[in-house]
Amino acid sequence: MYDVKSNKAGEFISHDEILATMAYARRNAENRALIEAILERAETGRGLPHREAAVLLECRLPDLTQRMFDLARRIKQRFYGNRIVMFAPLYLSNYCVNGCVYCPYHLPNKTIRRKKLTQEEIRREVIALQDMGHKRLALEAGEDPVNNPIEYVLESIRTIYGIRHRNGAIRRVNVNIAATTVENYRRLHEAGIGTYILFQETYHKENYEALHPTGPKHDYDWHTEAMDRAMQGGIDDVGIGVLFGLETYRYDFTGLLMHAEHLEAAFGVGPHTVSVPRLCMADGIDTGDFENCVPDEVFHKIVAAIRIAVPYTGMIISTRESRASREKVLELGVSQISGGSRTSVGGYVREEGEEENSAQFDVSDRRTLDEVVAWLLDLGYIPSFCTACYRAGRTGDRFMSLLKAGQIANCCHPNALITLKEYLQDYASPATRRKGLRQIERELDAVPDDRVRETARRFLQAIEKGERDFRF
Ligand code: SAM
Repeated sequence: MYDVKSNKAGEFISHDEILATMAYARRNAENRALIEAILERAETGRGLPHREAAVLLECRLPDLTQRMFDLARRIKQRFYGNRIVMFAPLYLSNYCVNGCVYCPYHLPNKTIRRKKLTQEEIRREVIALQDMGHKRLALEAGEDPVNNPIEYVLESIRTIYGIRHRNGAIRRVNVNIAATTVENYRRLHEAGIGTYILFQETYHKENYEALHPTGPKHDYDWHTEAMDRAMQGGIDDVGIGVLFGLETYRYDFTGLLMHAEHLEAAFGVGPHTVSVPRLCMADGIDTGDFENCVPDEVFHKIVAAIRIAVPYTGMIISTRESRASREKVLELGVSQISGGSRTSVGGYVREEGEEENSAQFDVSDRRTLDEVVAWLLDLGYIPSFCTACYRAGRTGDRFMSLLKAGQIANCCHPNALITLKEYLQDYASPATRRKGLRQIERELDAVPDDRVRETARRFLQAIEKGERDFRF
């Protein structure tokens, strides 16, 4: 039985409800009156329930599909403006005891080089990331209670927050590690993590069990209820996602929204972010073996429909996607991207000629962070290195209230400009710096409150004189 508030995976992600939603969407794929009414309701920016969002995704009327894309762009602009938050993944260890058939870290893979960073190696990786200009990391690790116990992850977080190199500092560490206990989530929370990220991979239980044949990750309920335990452990910024390509996208799109609805209903705060990774080629993994891979046109529809359905939720895209693909989804709804990423353990300080055979997937966008920043500026975006909300305690529902109160323009916008200025001052190439400074001048006028604008101007001047780390 479907129960959005239940704490049981099988009830808040109900297989029957997903099948009924898919059937409803198929039946109404050309129902002009209904689709128009849904689009009108979505104009309010209050989001959509999963059934209505599924109808938009299924829509077969070209003019209404176009309206959906236009609406997604408007909602993106209204809630996020032209800011794009930047981050980088940091792979700590690829030791893993699971058997996930799509992931090269799986235990049966004997060709991948296994590696776990020491604290000294983490220091070197983090300094390399700081020297690129990064302020926000996503920690990644395989699941291995012996090689990567929670104590190792906690120690790594302490190491990372403690590293100061020139003007560099990692100010927010998000964590993407396997489902764990309430007690371990509490320890992660106390270590000061930003978002706890865990991809569901697929919400289809039977398929999930087949794709994860061995290891602790095989337990669908344990994995699916992880965010509930994270919330109980005090983490109120959680990031969900599915790996598109494992199951039919219609099924997982609906499951993803039902998960978001569940968190909102049960804890009063929906997910902080949604990630939309697509399955990639990797060591021993051929996407040709997976029949549900999602073509670009469908992927764009998925991003637009998510943007409309959960306007308050940030959307993340990684370097799994190519430059062209990233450009498209940025306008449709994505608000965070990685740049200059390495998906191998120790990839940021690899020695010349050293073999790189520990990567998790093949990166499509191989540009440096400076190139990504310059590209974003050329497209009219403001690359933001802001970490202010989390550091000011504006997490969970407190962050959502800021968003809902429309205070973004007086808070996130100047913070984006200030952190961009830091980046330009400390790390950018001369050409990127020139572009960025022009953009900051133009964008300062968009801060509505006079006092905030004047303070932002003072901060920007102080950054030129060498001061750092201002925030609203
Ligand atoms: N081990 C952790 C867990 O069990 O959730 C998470 C870390 S894993 C390094 C991060 C994510 O990479 C996985 O959740 C999965 O969705 C994604 N991934 C694995 N194989 C992939 C592939 N071949 N292409 C794209 N993404 C992949």
